[in-house]
Amino acid sequence: MQIESNGILINIKPFSERDAIAHIFTKNSGVLTGMLRGAVVARKNKPLIGQIGHVIWNARLDSQLGVFHFENEKNLSAPLILNNDLLKIMNATFSLIYALIPERESYEQLYLRTIDLLSNLPDTNNPYDLYLQWEIDLLKDLGYALDLTKCSGCGRTDNLCYLSPKTGRAVCENCGVPYVDKLYKLPINLNVTKRFINNICAIQGIDVPSARKMF
Ligand SMILES: [Zn+2]
Repeated sequence: MQIESNGILINIKPFSERDAIAHIFTKNSGVLTGMLRGAVVARKNKPLIGQIGHVIWNARLDSQLGVFHFENEKNLSAPLILNNDLLKIMNATFSLIYALIPERESYEQLYLRTIDLLSNLPDTNNPYDLYLQWEIDLLKDLGYALDLTKCSGCGRTDNLCYLSPKTGRAVCENCGVPYVDKLYKLPINLNVTKRFINNICAIQGIDVPSARKMF
């Protein structure tokens, strides 16, 4: 089978002296795994994490490891790698996609939002705010849509102090009283989204990616 799309290189590891195994997050077909032939020894056009371009993925059988043809058009990581915060954010973004997004399932909105995030990071004064929004979107795509607009117990829209780890919905101060120990405290921030990510990883039986433990 053959898949053709645009994609971003999110992970690459040497497989042999010449070839590498890569993961590319594509616009139309989600994460694809495949061989990038000659990637280890390439002098010109060396494949690098953060490159975005045209992807053709071929596998003789569905179950086989595919082979990529990847044409790098732009390197989104170039403006990010010299800034420690931006580099940490990029690494966390790619490691979460790699860990949590199933292979060959379309996540087009997340793909577009990921490109937006990486493109906008160099120009913002609040990179972690942009990243928080991306993580909230990621949680939504993973089935944890956070509802911060009203209390899930009584419906009021003010005095929302907590977030339910089970439902992802806000809880007001009154309704939260019996469950204070179990609820996450609002306002939403990266510690709160991290707790959701920890839970999702625990359910899937995987470790939280080390890049996400950096902040
Ligand atoms: Zn309430």
